[in-house]
Amino acid sequence: MTATSSYPPLALYIDGAWTQGSGTRREPVVDPATGQVLGELPLAEPADLDAALEAADRGWRSWRDTPIETRSRILHTAARLLRERAQEIGRVMTMEQGKPLAEAAGEVLRVANLLEWDCEEARRAYGRIIPTGPGENLTVLREPIGPVAAFVPWNFPAGSPMRKIAAAVSAGCSIVIKASEEVPGTAVLITRAFHDAGLPAGVLNLVFGVPEEVSSHVIVSPVIRFVAFTGSIPVGKHLAQRAASVMKPSAMELGGHAPVIVCADADPKSAAVACARGKYANAGQVCTSPSRFFVHRSIAEEFTTALVEASEAVRVGNGLEPGVQMGPLVNARRREAVHRLVTDAREKGATVLTGGEIPDGPGYFYPPTVLVDVPADAAILSDEPFGPLAPVIVFDDLDEALRQANALPYGLAAYGFTNRADTADRLVRGFEAGILSINHTGGSVPQAPSGGYKESGYGREGGAEGLDGYLVTKRVSHRLQ
Ligand code: NAD
Repeated sequence: MTATSSYPPLALYIDGAWTQGSGTRREPVVDPATGQVLGELPLAEPADLDAALEAADRGWRSWRDTPIETRSRILHTAARLLRERAQEIGRVMTMEQGKPLAEAAGEVLRVANLLEWDCEEARRAYGRIIPTGPGENLTVLREPIGPVAAFVPWNFPAGSPMRKIAAAVSAGCSIVIKASEEVPGTAVLITRAFHDAGLPAGVLNLVFGVPEEVSSHVIVSPVIRFVAFTGSIPVGKHLAQRAASVMKPSAMELGGHAPVIVCADADPKSAAVACARGKYANAGQVCTSPSRFFVHRSIAEEFTTALVEASEAVRVGNGLEPGVQMGPLVNARRREAVHRLVTDAREKGATVLTGGEIPDGPGYFYPPTVLVDVPADAAILSDEPFGPLAPVIVFDDLDEALRQANALPYGLAAYGFTNRADTADRLVRGFEAGILSINHTGGSVPQAPSGGYKESGYGREGGAEGLDGYLVTKRVSHRLQ
């Protein structure tokens, strides 16, 4: 196996130092656009995890008592370094995850913004004074909860780790994070930025390993006080149960199957262009990706024609090539799962208007795919597709469309297109989802919370709410003799 020279050396980061760990197990990291092996990832053994936990325990105790000015200065430096290195880190992200370079570098810039926003927000983690009478001060303090265990997936190699790291270190916690074994290079470079910025040893510990081995070891450790996970609903439920078994709070950012409702009064063409932009970002591998398109019958034909046109115009290829708008899926497993959904829909009577075939050649590419006449029992309408699939469903009655939109156990994102204020109000009130966008499909911003309803999870990332899980409330009653 060969390692590619522009790909960073891979290592665990424990107690402020890079290490290959105490074992010999290694896992190859593969470029999904070419199938080429990029590097070899060391996997943590229990002794490495214990070292990370001990470091996190020490790291937290000194970090929480570090003046907030100093903490903030270090985190701002890390954000500046990330900005300066955005192209370099973005390139590594494209190599290991597949998304186009502009999208990857943009993600690095966004995480720099997120880090700055979180560390500024942490300066306002105010408590309060509760009126009593003379002789007693009754106050409420918000303190860092302690060492955090975090587990993040591969679809946002910078965004997902930074959501957890920024909130934890800004709040004054330490963190042991298991980033994705499929995209470790980006996590390594992000960690390097914190190291170079002077983050003290033990505050941030990055590990990779066999996921179940790591989570079963780390979550139950008495060192850990909070568990944060992003990933699929089954794994989220599993980790939430494990955290609950040792009475630890957790935040779960899980999957979705975002409905889009395009109302009769919306402009079908501009709605279709916006939907295509949202749908094919990151090849549809986004938990908030629009994935069920309910379109009013009166504009359905025009919308579908424009969606097919926009889908066929997407330039698919190796994300390192200029002009490419959509890269491959992250691995063979994901491509098979996506294609299975298309095959199932076809067999049940759906028509594929464009896409729907696995292309020849290397890499895990899958084309933008639009389906119509999809029967209600097709798996694509209930299983999160996590790929570039756009099933269009025609509706006549808005209440019925909302009922169908809300019928699944998920409730992460939802989208509506309308030019009428009263219809927008019906959508805002009607959708059961934590993240709602009207007349666009844009992504998350640091200053607003993201998170799910129902089985899409609990807890929020971003916004003032994003620090809640990482802080714990202490009531102090001080009698003045
Ligand atoms: P997955 O849930 O199996 O893996 C997601 C992440 O969780 C990975 O990094 C994995 O290493 C980690 N993980 C898995 N089992 C774990 C365990 N026992 N302990 C700790 N960490 C564990 O998802 P996948 O197979 O990579 O993708 C399948 C589906 O998951 C997708 O189709 C999509 O529906 C969903 N998904 C959602 C998100 C999201 O952002 N919400 C991200 C990735 C995948």
